[in-house]
Amino acid sequence: MALIVQKYGGTSVGSVDRIRNVAQRVAKYKAQGHQVVVVVSAMSGETNRLIALAREMQPQPDPRELDVMVSTGEQVTIALLAMALKDLGLKARSYTGWQVPIVTDDAYTKARIEDINDEKIRADLDSGHVVVVAGFQGVDGDNNITTLGRGGSDTTGVALAAALKADECQIYTDVDGVYTTDPRIVPEARRLKTITFEEMLEMASLGSKVLQIRSVEFAGKYKVKLRVLSSFEEEGDGTLITFEEDDNMEQAIISGIAFNRDEAKITIIGVPDKPGIAYQILGPVADANIDVDMIVQNVGHENTTDFTFTVHRNDFSKAMDIVKKIANEIGAREVKGDDKIAKVSIVGVGMRSHVGIARNMFEALSKEGINIQMISTSEIKISVVVEDKYMELAVRILHQAFNLDKAA
Ligand code: ASP
Ligand code: MG
Repeated sequence: MALIVQKYGGTSVGSVDRIRNVAQRVAKYKAQGHQVVVVVSAMSGETNRLIALAREMQPQPDPRELDVMVSTGEQVTIALLAMALKDLGLKARSYTGWQVPIVTDDAYTKARIEDINDEKIRADLDSGHVVVVAGFQGVDGDNNITTLGRGGSDTTGVALAAALKADECQIYTDVDGVYTTDPRIVPEARRLKTITFEEMLEMASLGSKVLQIRSVEFAGKYKVKLRVLSSFEEEGDGTLITFEEDDNMEQAIISGIAFNRDEAKITIIGVPDKPGIAYQILGPVADANIDVDMIVQNVGHENTTDFTFTVHRNDFSKAMDIVKKIANEIGAREVKGDDKIAKVSIVGVGMRSHVGIARNMFEALSKEGINIQMISTSEIKISVVVEDKYMELAVRILHQAFNLDKAA
């Protein structure tokens, strides 16, 4: 007997029929003698609908009231699933976040889970119930309803698995696992049988949208055994997120290629080359709560240098305004902005033990005449910024160059 936490995303519970299917799958696991806790998202489109409705009332909805409102999406699906389970003759009980309770901090719309009281859930499991918990929501220390940020049900699932010391956390979604890259761009993309937690973290933060990044962080911290599976297929092992030290399989050098079009680039030309300049430029940007991703500063010449960094596209115009003002103050020559960029990254723990990976990447890009505008690296990833019209081409040729279409 194992304790399994299953999380079903919005499309998996998108209709009454689909919820019945979920109930059948849960029943199958119960019949095998397992204890099952199910976490569900709102029906697909529902959270967007609720947010749009709130915005009709207030263009910038009050965060506390917004959380009261959007948390209702999941309250509907837990009840429907519990009904479907009872129809199959199973004992089932649904809980909202506050009923568990799942205690969070008070950061409305992006709260972090601080504590989960597992008493009720354990008692229910012990008496043979399937426990159905609303994803994406919690309650702060003053009993205010909070939500965990878009895609937050993944985090609820993983956090519950950690609190209950579950044997496995299964994330059911509309794809059957984690792929080497997006199959819509590269039809030859392959499902990975395993991916390490660190690679998954990079893939999630670099634009792969299979799992909410916070849920991956959580899984890493608490060593939750996490598996991504399709809710639309009967069979299949999906993708298991492993821990490098436990994984004795032969590792591919590169596991996947991530990409995103979410960034924009700001360049300040002719910056006086003296101590404190990076701080003078990036300090006010950070003060405005704007995240900076890549940063490049050139070697100085004739006492000036050029300074380039990227921000999220949503912050682009705000960041440009700030930087233009600073450029003026520090006597820089010119500020240039470019939001027609894309970031393409190769990810793989095998990079640690292999040389020449960057060389292979740059060679493949140069053969296609794709100009690299910026480069950044970590131990297990190399990212380049290219003109956005070349993004799909870059992803395709890199997928080929690293033989990702061939089984490892
Ligand atoms: N319903 C929430 C959202 O759409 C949470 C989730 O689906 O994970 O973001
Ligand atoms: Mg989701």
